[in-house]
Formats: sequence, structure tokens, C-alpha cells
Amino acid sequence: MLILVVNAGSSSLKYQLIDMDDEKVIAKGNCDRIGIDGHISHKTHDGRTLNEDCSFPTHTEAFEKLVDTLLNSDASVIKSMSEISAVGHRIVQGAEIFSETTLVTDEVIDKIDELAELAPVHNHAHALALRACKKVFDPSVPQAVVFDTAFHQTMPPKAYMYGIPYEDYEKYHVRKYGFHGTSHRFVSMALAEAMGKDLKDLKVVSCHLGNGSSITAIENGKSIDTSMGFTPLDGIIMGTRCGAIDASAVTYLEKKLNMNPDEMSNYLNKQCGFLGVSHVSSDNREIYAAIHEGDEKAQLTADMLRYEIKKFIGSYTAVMNGLDAVIFTGGIGENSWEVRDGVCTNVDYLGIKIDHELNKTVRGTLTKISTPDSKVEVWVIPTNEELLIARDTLALISK
Ligand code: AMP
Repeated sequence: MLILVVNAGSSSLKYQLIDMDDEKVIAKGNCDRIGIDGHISHKTHDGRTLNEDCSFPTHTEAFEKLVDTLLNSDASVIKSMSEISAVGHRIVQGAEIFSETTLVTDEVIDKIDELAELAPVHNHAHALALRACKKVFDPSVPQAVVFDTAFHQTMPPKAYMYGIPYEDYEKYHVRKYGFHGTSHRFVSMALAEAMGKDLKDLKVVSCHLGNGSSITAIENGKSIDTSMGFTPLDGIIMGTRCGAIDASAVTYLEKKLNMNPDEMSNYLNKQCGFLGVSHVSSDNREIYAAIHEGDEKAQLTADMLRYEIKKFIGSYTAVMNGLDAVIFTGGIGENSWEVRDGVCTNVDYLGIKIDHELNKTVRGTLTKISTPDSKVEVWVIPTNEELLIARDTLALISK
């Protein structure tokens, strides 16, 4: 059974076609530059590729091209549209309305669109893509939406509330939502499987570290706190996002830099983080390359990241009253031994001890990097959000 997984942005439409019989990706690609001009890059499991400039005035043309590529191109992988049993869509913000994977209806799409106020960059684009997908696919093909925020809907109010007047939370829905839920859910399930334990019996800190990063405390298989907040800006320092910052510093900078709120939002999201502190790059690899050349600001950036991750692990251990395992995932978590090494050094008080030599060799493979006598297990676990979206979609349509 084939499931198409879609991750749509305002100008792009990434996709994977997954065969659920063996969970293998049979084709994947990206329809890019939607609303600008258009380009598709596509790759099949057997190594055929297609790169073509196209015209994508809207998401509808992108979907039409994607289907045509799957069906009719030199890199086709299916003979009939009916081979695709369902479509699963990644949605960034589900707020308090969506706490689980949901079947797509017109009403659901409208609600996702209404939530664009809380996620201006993403949700409207998701709604456009959902409407386009409904036009291109036969109405009999079920579609599901999987929300980045859904996993964190189990957080208790004491974790998700901000210290603002309660009526402003009620009226404007300003609270912590948390993101990367699909990734945290995927890796925590993979962890339990790898450890041969029931996730319900584990206290876990999951560190998803990439261009965007978030850290989640998972107890009884449920998210009980997470580092991202109302938006994905909060938490630890990221590629171009500042992470947690005193709100007064923001209003002060707004005045000093003579910025309006939109300009300030752009500054905090795009000009800060690794890039802003180091003035080297938003990319972790380039930060470490600069460190090897003696760049002090790159060193400071790397030190900040490792320090902040360590602080979250400590605070989440405190609130869970224990810790069984730490997960590293995402581009940095899976690949950067330096970041893992820095986080997992001098934390023996918490019961964390890693094999530093083994850690140096691990890149993107599921590996336990803690020593046999470490009280807490430390794992590198490659994430796979698309696969979880496909699994969720399959589970929903099988009901
Ligand atoms: P993501 O957003 O999950 O794709 O992660 C992107 C981040 O992962 C960037 O900062 C990359 O520099 C980092 N990254 C990817 N591969 C490596 C690697 N081999 N070593 C260190 N960092 C890496």
C-alpha cells in the first residue's frame, strides 16, 4: 500500500511516496519556487532522477506536476493514481484544537487556515496545499493531517502557561505549544524499541537539534514539557533563531534598532542564533570549521549551544524526578559528535556517562553511546518524521 507524505511550505512542496508494506521510500522530491516560477527535483528508489523547470503559479500546478511525474515521467514509479491509497500532510500548528492526527475535511482545512494567526509562515500555506491536493486527487482518496504541536498537547497547564493575565491566554491563545512533536514521538518510540522497554516506563529527554532545535521531556510516553513555546523561536539557540530571551530585551532592541514588530520578528528569527553570534554561519558544520581556525565567536556560539542543552537536560530531570535516557536526533544531534560530547561531559552527577571514542564515530546511525555503567542511556536516533506521518495516516484510514 502506497502513502504519499506531503510537507508543504508557502513556496515549496516536499513529498515522499512510501510503500507501507516494507516502509521503503520509493520516490521523493520537492516542487520548489511555487508562486515564483517553478522547479521539480525528483528521485526514485532505484536511482532515477528528474530535475525540471516548470510553471507553478499555485500549489495546484505543483500537485499536478508531482502526480504526473509519479505516473508518466522517465522517473515514474506508479501506473495509476489508484495505487496511492492515502495522503498524509505535515501541519505545523494545530493549537488546542487538534491533539491527534485527523482526517481532512473542508471544515478541518478552514480551521487550519484560521490558525494561521498563530503560525503565519506555515498554516496558510498548509491550507493552500490541502485545498490543491483535494482538487488533484479523487475525493475517495483519504487525506490525513499530522500536527507538529499535537504530541505536546499532553503538557500540563503549569508547563504551558506563561505568566500573563489569564484572560489574554483565553482570548488570544497565547501559551506554549511546542513543535517537532512528530520527531520527538518517532524517536522516543524508536528508543523504547531499541532499549527493549515500554515507553510508558521511561523518563526521557529528547534533543532534536537541527536548524531549528527543541528539547522535550517525555514521561509515560507523553510530552510533559518542551523548550519551544508559542512559536518555534523559543528554547535553545538555533541556526538563525535567538532562542529564549528576556521579553524586555526585545522591546528595548525594538526601540534602539528602530524596528517595527514585523522587522523585529524577522531579526529574531533570521538574523540571530549561530549566525548572529558568530557572524560565521547558521550551519553547525561551518561553526566547527571556524573553531578549528581559531575563531573565538564561533567557539562562543558552540559553547552556548552545548551549555543550553545541558541546562534543559538538568531541569527536565528535576521535573521528572529522574532520567532513564537522553536522545540526540536532527541534523546536529545525529551527526555532530562535538555537540554530543560537550553536552555529555561533566554530567556524571545526573548519571550520564558516554563512550567518548565511540561517540566520535557515530553519524546518523541508531547507536547507544553511553557506557555500560552509565545510569542513564544516551542514544543517537535518526528521526523520520515522514515515516511517522505515513504510519499515522495508515492507522487512521485502517480504523
Ligand atoms: P536539520 O535542520 O535537521 O537538517 O539540521 C541541519 C544542521 O545539521 C546544520 O546546522 C548542519 O550543519 C548540521 N549537520 C548536518 N550534518 C552534519 C555533520 N555531518 N556534522 C555536523 N553537523 C551537521
